[in-house]
Amino acid sequence: MKVDCVMTNSQHALQKGSGHLLVPSCSSHATTQPPPIPPADHRQIAVQQELFTTSIYSPGSPILLPNGARIFNRLVEFLRQQYTRYGFDEVITPTIYKKALWKKSGHLENYSDDMFTVTSTSPSRKDTTDGGEEDEYGLKPMNCPGHCLIFASQRHSYRDLPIRYADFSPLHRNEISGALSGLTRVRRFHQDDGHIFCRPSQIEEEIRKTLDFVRVVYSTFKLGPYRLTLSTRPTDHYIGTPEEWETAEGALKRALDASGQNWTINEGDGAFYGPKIDIILRDSDGKEHQTATIQLDFQLPKRFELTYTAPAPGYEQRGETTTDPDALHKTGLVTPVLIHRAILGSVERLMALLIEHYNGSWPFWLNPRQVMIFTVNNSQPVMDHAKRVQDVLMGREASSNKAVSQATNFIVDIDDRDCSLGLKKHNAKEKGYTVILTVGPQQLSSGTVTCDLSRLGGDSEATDGERVEMLPSELLEILKAKADAYL
Ligand SMILES: [Zn+2]
Repeated sequence: MKVDCVMTNSQHALQKGSGHLLVPSCSSHATTQPPPIPPADHRQIAVQQELFTTSIYSPGSPILLPNGARIFNRLVEFLRQQYTRYGFDEVITPTIYKKALWKKSGHLENYSDDMFTVTSTSPSRKDTTDGGEEDEYGLKPMNCPGHCLIFASQRHSYRDLPIRYADFSPLHRNEISGALSGLTRVRRFHQDDGHIFCRPSQIEEEIRKTLDFVRVVYSTFKLGPYRLTLSTRPTDHYIGTPEEWETAEGALKRALDASGQNWTINEGDGAFYGPKIDIILRDSDGKEHQTATIQLDFQLPKRFELTYTAPAPGYEQRGETTTDPDALHKTGLVTPVLIHRAILGSVERLMALLIEHYNGSWPFWLNPRQVMIFTVNNSQPVMDHAKRVQDVLMGREASSNKAVSQATNFIVDIDDRDCSLGLKKHNAKEKGYTVILTVGPQQLSSGTVTCDLSRLGGDSEATDGERVEMLPSELLEILKAKADAYL
């Protein structure tokens, strides 16, 4: 089984290629044209903004620096907020599973080249003494088998479905070392992975909700436009009956129509275990990237013998309803349908896309450098005031024995170097801070702070360099409103 759930090698579309330079349309005007602007490269911006690094000791596994980790965590937290609407329950699952599991899932047979094996080097710590396969583990490349184990660990009635698990686990896939690059060609990454176990009759509704989820997320990031493609049953190599495929594809088509977006068919391009919808995003350079994906799977639930109980099981399995009292009287076991879905896809790859999309100018809510406070001088009262402002904006009380409970998670730094304000301002802008604050002796009696909000955007009408005087608590409300609106 080729389990290409959620991300395949061919989806690593973000690598930088040649041929992207903007060429002036008329060579005779070459001298008056501005020089060609190469498209943003996330690896360069990442160096400038100290987002991530790499090491020869773990090729292909990006090391996120504090600024990169802030963006990563905000993306994950953003999704967690959305999960409250779309009904996903987060689970936390192992990184290594015995080979027996990968055999059961089909990965060993079809995906082993992409997998890492993990073994103990200490004979005394082996699970068995014969040194057989029982002691070999595989580092997980996907979460699906683990989620099947969770589903199988409990009994389910048709009333419990759909069950939706979400997982942000790190995944490992053994890419060839020559291809590794930045955040896009990697061996270790995280998906905003989700698996929906549903009744056959629920497919359309679940796909519809997932497409809605995709729309909400991409419009929040102001990414797009994107196009949707439906890949249908391969001509010969597939499992299940043609009728099952027809029903499933019909449900996907109706959900696609209901989304109100244009979609096209990739005839015969579905995985052999089910049809899928791919979301293909077009970036500002016109380049396309496959990000989100939604895949139906008839195969894995069978391999894991997953079942739920329902009346009229024959009808239920076909996604049909009946009023026949004899049929309804019988309750039996039915195999659920599994939907694999990821909205961002790989979080790292989406980060790379966003880095290039914003070209280093992050919206406030995602910015790893949000607020900079300058001190006019470094006298103790001014330093204390700067610290108080920082405490308010970060939601921490200066002196308390209680654990912190109101942290805003805003990144607020203080520049108390003994140098000119002009230089401090230049450095802060270069580093990409959104909000620049100044505190000096004049603010000590009022407790206020001088704010430059001109880079905050939106309804803030301040022009560049314009200053506003306000209390830190007032500023906090403005910043919270921006972050809550994902601006
Ligand atoms: Zn999956």
